[in-house]
Amino acid sequence: MAEETIFSKIIRREIPADVVYQDELVTAFRDISPQAPTHILIVPNVLIPTVNDVTADHEQALGRLFTVAAKIARDEGIDEDGYRLIMNCNRHGGQEVYHIHMHLVGGRALGPMLSHKGL
Ligand code: 5GP
Repeated sequence: MAEETIFSKIIRREIPADVVYQDELVTAFRDISPQAPTHILIVPNVLIPTVNDVTADHEQALGRLFTVAAKIARDEGIDEDGYRLIMNCNRHGGQEVYHIHMHLVGGRALGPMLSHKGL
Protein backbone atom coordinates (compact mmCIF):
# COMPACT_ATOMS: atom_id res chain seq x y z
CA MET A 1 0.00 0.00 0.00
CA ALA A 2 1.28 3.45 -0.92
CA GLU A 3 1.67 5.90 1.92
CA GLU A 4 -0.99 8.58 2.15
CA THR A 5 -0.03 12.23 1.77
CA ILE A 6 -1.61 15.43 2.98
CA PHE A 7 -3.72 15.41 -0.19
CA SER A 8 -5.76 12.42 1.07
CA LYS A 9 -6.64 14.42 4.17
CA ILE A 10 -7.69 17.38 1.99
CA ILE A 11 -9.83 15.07 -0.17
CA ARG A 12 -11.55 13.70 2.95
CA ARG A 13 -11.95 17.30 4.24
CA GLU A 14 -9.98 16.42 7.38
CA ILE A 15 -7.72 19.45 7.00
CA PRO A 16 -8.57 22.85 5.54
CA ALA A 17 -8.02 23.72 1.89
CA ASP A 18 -9.67 26.07 -0.57
CA VAL A 19 -11.57 23.37 -2.46
CA VAL A 20 -13.03 24.70 -5.70
CA TYR A 21 -14.48 21.44 -7.05
CA GLN A 22 -15.11 17.87 -5.88
CA ASP A 23 -16.93 14.86 -7.29
CA GLU A 24 -16.72 11.11 -6.87
CA LEU A 25 -13.47 10.87 -8.86
CA VAL A 26 -11.45 14.06 -8.37
CA THR A 27 -10.91 17.01 -6.04
CA ALA A 28 -9.52 20.45 -6.96
CA PHE A 29 -8.13 22.99 -4.51
CA ARG A 30 -5.95 26.10 -4.60
CA ASP A 31 -2.21 25.55 -4.21
CA ILE A 32 -0.94 26.75 -0.84
CA SER A 33 2.01 28.44 -2.56
CA PRO A 34 0.60 29.83 -5.81
CA GLN A 35 3.02 30.52 -8.67
CA ALA A 36 0.48 32.58 -10.63
CA PRO A 37 -2.86 34.33 -10.02
CA THR A 38 -4.61 31.03 -10.65
CA HIS A 39 -2.82 27.94 -9.35
CA ILE A 40 -5.12 25.02 -8.65
CA LEU A 41 -4.26 21.37 -8.04
CA ILE A 42 -6.61 18.76 -9.49
CA VAL A 43 -6.11 15.33 -7.94
CA PRO A 44 -7.72 11.91 -8.31
CA ASN A 45 -9.49 10.92 -5.09
CA VAL A 46 -7.78 7.55 -5.25
CA LEU A 47 -4.13 7.53 -4.18
CA ILE A 48 -1.79 7.04 -7.15
CA PRO A 49 1.73 8.02 -6.02
CA THR A 50 3.29 8.88 -9.40
CA VAL A 51 2.52 8.75 -13.10
CA ASN A 52 4.63 5.56 -13.13
CA ASP A 53 1.89 3.88 -11.05
CA VAL A 54 -0.93 4.66 -13.49
CA THR A 55 -2.88 1.68 -14.85
CA ALA A 56 -5.85 1.28 -17.17
CA ASP A 57 -8.09 1.17 -14.07
CA HIS A 58 -7.29 4.84 -13.51
CA GLU A 59 -8.29 6.06 -16.96
CA GLN A 60 -11.72 7.37 -15.96
CA ALA A 61 -10.41 9.39 -13.03
CA LEU A 62 -7.44 10.70 -15.00
CA GLY A 63 -9.65 11.69 -17.93
CA ARG A 64 -11.80 13.58 -15.43
CA LEU A 65 -8.76 15.69 -14.50
CA PHE A 66 -8.94 17.24 -17.97
CA THR A 67 -12.68 17.89 -18.06
CA VAL A 68 -12.47 19.48 -14.62
CA ALA A 69 -9.42 21.52 -15.67
CA ALA A 70 -11.38 22.92 -18.61
CA LYS A 71 -14.37 23.73 -16.38
CA ILE A 72 -12.22 25.45 -13.74
CA ALA A 73 -10.36 27.43 -16.41
CA ARG A 74 -13.74 28.71 -17.65
CA ASP A 75 -14.88 29.46 -14.09
CA GLU A 76 -11.64 31.37 -13.41
CA GLY A 77 -12.01 33.30 -16.67
CA ILE A 78 -8.63 32.20 -18.01
CA ASP A 79 -9.74 29.82 -20.74
CA GLU A 80 -9.48 32.29 -23.62
CA ASP A 81 -6.10 33.76 -22.64
CA GLY A 82 -4.81 30.29 -21.86
CA TYR A 83 -3.06 28.44 -19.09
CA ARG A 84 -0.68 25.56 -18.42
CA LEU A 85 -1.34 22.05 -17.11
CA ILE A 86 1.62 20.38 -15.41
CA MET A 87 2.22 16.96 -13.88
CA ASN A 88 5.56 16.33 -12.21
CA CYS A 89 6.99 12.83 -11.77
CA ASN A 90 9.61 11.82 -9.24
CA ARG A 91 12.81 13.64 -8.38
CA HIS A 92 13.91 14.94 -11.78
CA GLY A 93 10.35 16.08 -12.47
CA GLY A 94 10.35 18.06 -9.23
CA GLN A 95 7.51 16.09 -7.61
CA GLU A 96 7.12 16.96 -3.93
CA VAL A 97 3.80 15.33 -3.02
CA TYR A 98 3.50 11.66 -3.94
CA HIS A 99 -0.21 11.67 -4.82
CA ILE A 100 -0.41 12.55 -8.49
CA HIS A 101 -1.90 15.92 -9.28
CA MET A 102 -2.39 18.21 -12.23
CA HIS A 103 -1.33 21.84 -11.70
CA LEU A 104 -3.62 24.32 -13.45
CA VAL A 105 -1.61 27.53 -13.69
CA GLY A 106 -2.70 30.77 -15.35
CA GLY A 107 -3.84 34.33 -14.99
CA ARG A 108 -0.65 35.77 -16.45
CA ALA A 109 1.68 35.04 -19.37
CA LEU A 110 3.76 32.13 -18.13
CA GLY A 111 6.78 32.47 -20.39
CA PRO A 112 8.86 29.60 -21.70
CA MET A 113 7.80 26.13 -20.60
CA LEU A 114 11.01 25.41 -18.69
CA SER A 115 11.85 28.66 -16.96
CA HIS A 116 13.99 29.11 -13.86
CA LYS A 117 10.88 28.46 -11.79
CA GLY A 118 10.31 25.16 -13.53
CA LEU A 119 6.95 26.14 -14.98
P1 5GP B 1 4.61 18.93 -6.93
O1 5GP B 1 5.95 19.60 -6.78
O2 5GP B 1 4.53 17.66 -6.12
O3 5GP B 1 4.19 18.77 -8.34
O4 5GP B 1 3.57 19.97 -6.33
C1 5GP B 1 3.08 19.92 -5.03
C2 5GP B 1 2.29 21.17 -4.81
O5 5GP B 1 1.50 21.01 -3.65
C3 5GP B 1 3.16 22.41 -4.56
O6 5GP B 1 2.87 23.40 -5.55
C4 5GP B 1 2.79 22.85 -3.15
O7 5GP B 1 2.76 24.25 -3.01
C5 5GP B 1 1.43 22.21 -2.96
N1 5GP B 1 1.12 21.86 -1.58
C6 5GP B 1 1.92 21.17 -0.72
N2 5GP B 1 1.31 21.00 0.46
C7 5GP B 1 0.08 21.59 0.34
C8 5GP B 1 -1.02 21.74 1.24
O8 5GP B 1 -1.01 21.29 2.39
N3 5GP B 1 -2.12 22.40 0.78
C9 5GP B 1 -2.17 22.91 -0.49
N4 5GP B 1 -3.28 23.55 -0.84
N5 5GP B 1 -1.16 22.78 -1.37
C10 5GP B 1 -0.04 22.14 -0.95
